[in-house]
Amino acid sequence: MKKGIAASPGIAIGKVLLLEEQIIKITLTKIDNNQIQEELVKFEQAVQKTKKELLQISEQVCKKMGMEKAEIFIAHSMMAEDLLLKEKVEKKISDEFLSADNAVNQAIQEITKLFSAMKDEYMSERAIDFKDVGIRLLNNILKIPAQDLNEITDEVILVSKDLTPSATAQINKQKVLGFATDMGGKTSHTAIMARTLEIPAVTGLIDLSREIKNDDTIIVDGINGLVIINPDKKTLQDYKSDRNKYLNEVSQLKELKNLPAETKDGFRIELAANIGTPQDVVGALGNGAEGIGLYRTEFLYMDRDSMPNEDEQFEAYKQVVEKMDGKPTIIRTLDIGGDKKLSYLKLDEEMNPFLGVRAIRLCLRQPEIFKIQLRAILRASTFGRLKIMYPMIATVEEVKAANQILKEIKSQLANANVAFDSEIQTGIMVEIPATAINADLFANEVDFFSIGTNDLIQYTMAADRMNENLSELYDLYNPAILRLIKNVIVESKKAGKWTGMCGEMAGDPMSALILLGLGIDELSMSAIAIPRVKKVIRSVTKKEASEIANKVFEMKSSKEIRSYLNKTLEKVL
Ligand code: PEP
Ligand code: MG
Repeated sequence: MKKGIAASPGIAIGKVLLLEEQIIKITLTKIDNNQIQEELVKFEQAVQKTKKELLQISEQVCKKMGMEKAEIFIAHSMMAEDLLLKEKVEKKISDEFLSADNAVNQAIQEITKLFSAMKDEYMSERAIDFKDVGIRLLNNILKIPAQDLNEITDEVILVSKDLTPSATAQINKQKVLGFATDMGGKTSHTAIMARTLEIPAVTGLIDLSREIKNDDTIIVDGINGLVIINPDKKTLQDYKSDRNKYLNEVSQLKELKNLPAETKDGFRIELAANIGTPQDVVGALGNGAEGIGLYRTEFLYMDRDSMPNEDEQFEAYKQVVEKMDGKPTIIRTLDIGGDKKLSYLKLDEEMNPFLGVRAIRLCLRQPEIFKIQLRAILRASTFGRLKIMYPMIATVEEVKAANQILKEIKSQLANANVAFDSEIQTGIMVEIPATAINADLFANEVDFFSIGTNDLIQYTMAADRMNENLSELYDLYNPAILRLIKNVIVESKKAGKWTGMCGEMAGDPMSALILLGLGIDELSMSAIAIPRVKKVIRSVTKKEASEIANKVFEMKSSKEIRSYLNKTLEKVL
């Protein structure tokens, strides 16, 4: 048994088809001065061919998986023409006298290294996208035919070192039952597409492809992130029955899509989705989201050479709010700093960036950036139901300062006769313990609270959210975390304000029981988690949930709480 990352849920059992890593042989070739032009043309032709192929893939994907996934390949086709790549390649050909294949190979390696080094998981996984485009470019320069997964005729489970997004796009779901790769994480486009195709997948298995042979039997357990090679009879039997249970559950969950998140005694809460780009709205609505509880706008600012201007931002926000068609959308203002850096924004080096000038702290110190975003949000606010949320709030003064700037922008827009929602609600993320403790002091300054447990846990436990060695400390069931959350909900309610949660905890079915019991108004999570949480909510009464919450608050350790919730959840479902 090998443990990896649960990239796409489900259980697949079948025979292995090992995909050899496509090794493109590149020997260092220097060219003469008079060959420069020829190599530049070779590169340009390869770019055009790659672009054409990727746009064709995007059309196929659009038919198979919808526009949202097709956009990945439109983005890939743009990467083929990426200016940084072009500049690097042309320089290597003209100044360093490298042949086109050598130049592309080196430039792609440099760019992927740059992305891989980024701490933000989403950004670092963009390295795979560049690598995918790079392989296609090299194939086209060297005239090597690309791998074609369409040709698979038997039912198989793919095992490979890595699977590029464009290879994944060609997967025929009837033949490929699942896949397992040595590399990759949860937010790679390969993983995202596997989830859309609903093919079980485990990634990050390190050296699986070297340990396995064609025709071995393999179980891919995408729920727990496990693979089992040549299982014994009993394991195989158990997994077959788990697979049937899982498939039954999935079809039941699908039936819940259009039903409200309402308890058996009629108490209703809102289940919303977290998104990073306008394209994510499709998945949100597809899973029955009743709103967007967190739009992480920083992705709009990343992966580019300059700040997005007001119109660009306006277009993105408008797209989201229009697609949401009257359902509420909470736009979080820029949360940059910490692990998320912008190449074009010079920030001071900090010893502890997570405790440094990030998010609202940065926006209040560089109000020009903030003002542009607020103008764009306000302009988009006439196209639907938008709310504004400030991240990383630690003091009431920060809220007042942010609201003061908002007020200034509102009056500028009003003077210029630009339409906006003058009643737009403003709220704060509660992700710093001080803010959770002082919730009563904030209540008068905000329309709503949204609890950001991802950061709240790391700051409360002093355990870096990305440090795997501290995962035991980074524990959402620690009584300290639950007490902080309770305080926020209680104080918010006392003041008649609305409380949501947009950290990962919101998508945890066991936590849903407590949060429902405490009276939370909204849970916002990865879209894919919505159906399961909805099922939990529809399986209990509000009274039962309150009793569960009360019991949990009598317990003294996370271990006790976890085991109680585990048993309780099994009972109610
Ligand atoms: C959080 O901290 O809980 C949160 C939702 O914000 P992010 O994960 O973007 O830091
Ligand atoms: Mg946060």
